[in-house]
Amino acid sequence: MLATIFLQSTNFIDAAYIVAFSLLIYGMTGLTGPRTAVRGNKIAAAGMAIAVIATLLRQGEFHGSGTVWLIILGVVIGTAIGVPAALNVRMTAMPQMVALFNGVGGGAVALIAWVEYRHHFGGDYPLRSEIFELFGAIVGSVSFWGSNIAFGKLQEILPGRPIKLPGQAIINALLFLVCVVSAIVLAAGTHSEALFILGILVASAILGNMVVLPIGGADMPVVISLLNAFTGLSAAATGVALSNPVMIVAGMIVGASGTILTNLMAKAMNRSVPAIVAGGFGGAVAAPAGPAGEAGGTIRSTSAQDVAIQLSYARQVVIAPGYGMAVAQAQHAVRELEKALEKKGVTVKFAIHPVAGRMPGHMNVLLAEADVPYDLLREMDEINPEFPRTDVTLVIGANDVTNPAAKNEPGSPIYGMPILEVNESGSVIVLKRSMASGFAGIDNPLFYDPKTAMLFGDAKQSVSDITSEVQAL
Ligand code: NDP
Repeated sequence: MLATIFLQSTNFIDAAYIVAFSLLIYGMTGLTGPRTAVRGNKIAAAGMAIAVIATLLRQGEFHGSGTVWLIILGVVIGTAIGVPAALNVRMTAMPQMVALFNGVGGGAVALIAWVEYRHHFGGDYPLRSEIFELFGAIVGSVSFWGSNIAFGKLQEILPGRPIKLPGQAIINALLFLVCVVSAIVLAAGTHSEALFILGILVASAILGNMVVLPIGGADMPVVISLLNAFTGLSAAATGVALSNPVMIVAGMIVGASGTILTNLMAKAMNRSVPAIVAGGFGGAVAAPAGPAGEAGGTIRSTSAQDVAIQLSYARQVVIAPGYGMAVAQAQHAVRELEKALEKKGVTVKFAIHPVAGRMPGHMNVLLAEADVPYDLLREMDEINPEFPRTDVTLVIGANDVTNPAAKNEPGSPIYGMPILEVNESGSVIVLKRSMASGFAGIDNPLFYDPKTAMLFGDAKQSVSDITSEVQAL
């Protein structure tokens, strides 16, 4: 009895919350490097477990044990779905998974707002709590529906190209207006609360869909990061409404880090964040990539043996990896090639584009896993001036991030996006399986450049073949 009173005392619950968010913050510091990331993740997960237990105790204190069982049921269902999904997901499908998890967070916030309104229906709800709750409902719902569309695009259930309606910006502005006016009416006090809260949820749901559908091509990473920030902010706002410190702290961490990442990625992609929010995003509609040779003339294909000769007699080789390296899981083979070339006295560097692959830092993670020394990695701004003095650039499963159309073709959906200027090097060898386009769904003039030779095949096999040939020389 005494133990129960102690466990449910506000002081104990507050102390548990402080421990929980301290662990969350401490765990996050581990995420700054691949070696400490797993430990950091486990520490943060322990913090979240403490937060859940503290919430159960708090719930018991305020509402009796009835609702506690509902929370436990929710935790069991969530665990039964989340754990197998996280264990079985392929590394290359991680961004979709993140989009989905992020969306679920926003959806939960929107549902909490709905439940809170039903709970306080007709009663006194402090205006301060109401404002934060309504903000959480709008932003959480936009994030949920927007993340679902992002998931659909990344999973290729929906077309990756921009889908735009005529008058899109006006429709978005009207939907936003419906949300804001409904929120004001609710905050001012009305007898039709259910109607207006429903209006908010429906209008923000359509808005979430409408904001992400027109985004296509290479702009998705910025949007995923923006939605992530939205979910964090909506959770923090709801935390204020519910006086829940863990929701405030965790929400603010996600909101702040998501906002910083959005800014960094938008800068790297040469886009402005206000343009993203206004929906002036996605650019022109992507023309589907034509069959081999259609768009830009002749393609020259080469063999592993010829590539090995070219690489072995080079002074400097730059390797530009992309999504295809992740699909082929070629990073270990790439490390072997790098070592073989260095043995022959060739200088090898890696060119890392900020949105190569399908998640921020994707290439860094893969190359770190294969023990590629960190000092061989060069950011885009650092490596671009080096291409003119590079003898050979080996493009391994990268496509959009090397596409010169981003610089030369104003009508291109990726126009304005900074690229790895691999076409400035002495010669370029592209490793991929076919002439298929990349994520943006557009043709790449680099493949038709007289300097470029294509080595068709799975990247892992091609790299291993080249390494064997280099070693045999
Ligand atoms: P791309 O998607 O442009 O191209 C990848 C290429 O890899 C394809 O053309 C494909 O050609 C090739 N490939 C696939 N599998 C293999 C394989 N097994 N072996 C060899 N090649 C293979 O990738 P990039 O990294 O150049 O660009 C990333 C794109 O993804 C950008 O448009 C970016 O905006 C977007 N994006 C990035 C995110 C991020 O955070 N980094 C998140 C969401 C989207 P083929 O089929 O012929 O082999």
